[in-house]
Amino acid sequence: MADHTWGNCKGCRFFNSHNAQPDDSEVAQCTQPELVEFQLQVTGMSGCKEFEARTGVSSGVYQEPEATTMH
Ligand code: SF4
Repeated sequence: MADHTWGNCKGCRFFNSHNAQPDDSEVAQCTQPELVEFQLQVTGMSGCKEFEARTGVSSGVYQEPEATTMH
């Protein structure tokens, strides 16, 4: 529970937008598993505590696992 932080829909991965970078006025459906049944139409500047940051759009923070050399 503690790891839930409030965030804006425009930066949330459940914001069903086709835009890579939705803005405040964009309206899209919230697809959060517990909220999707309500078919909420939310705007970019809305938000809630189920926020989870979008991953696909962050600037390539994929990290190679460190090579371990064991003898
Ligand atoms: S209402 Fe919450 S879960 Fe849904 S898109 Fe907005 S921040 Fe994400």
